[in-house]
Amino acid sequence: MSRLDSFIRRLEAQRSCLGTAAERTGKLPGIVLELGLGNGRTFDHLREICPGREIYVFDRQVAAHPDCIPAPDRLFIGDFTATLPQALARLGAGAAAFIHVDLGSGDAEASQALAARLAPDIAALMAPGAVVVSDQPITAPALHPLPLPDGVKPGRYFMAEKLG
Ligand code: SAM
Repeated sequence: MSRLDSFIRRLEAQRSCLGTAAERTGKLPGIVLELGLGNGRTFDHLREICPGREIYVFDRQVAAHPDCIPAPDRLFIGDFTATLPQALARLGAGAAAFIHVDLGSGDAEASQALAARLAPDIAALMAPGAVVVSDQPITAPALHPLPLPDGVKPGRYFMAEKLG
């Protein structure tokens, strides 16, 4: 498969998983968290598919398209390893109904290691029944993997639910 096809399939998988998670958590009260603002593509999409939800966004810097920059009070700027504990203290355990984690860099091993380090705080931020959609596996005792939407190849994207 060409790199172009692989990139397109990744984005299709991402959109499909985000849509499925938004539907699944639609009736669950809580906020949405986006780890990895990047150029703001998925933040913009979350705004569209989660109308009325408060969305908090994390990144080490703001380098997004000007139309896709969250309000300052919805931004956690800094390394995830520092800002997730801050979010836990400020927003509270179980505050999130839906979390999207899109932290991948070109270094697959480092990205997986970062996701593993963040997993306990991610799980703690999730309400029972909340869903995490991610570009890396997020594993924690309170999380169980969810089946992927039709057409999404296992390993291309990940979904897990917090046990009630
Ligand atoms: N979701 C974005 C979009 O659709 O435009 C793309 C996100 S990009 C793949 C990953 C982002 O994660 C980058 O903006 C990078 O700065 C951020 N990132 C990676 N590791 C980080 C870390 N340890 N702390 C904070 N931000 C980090």
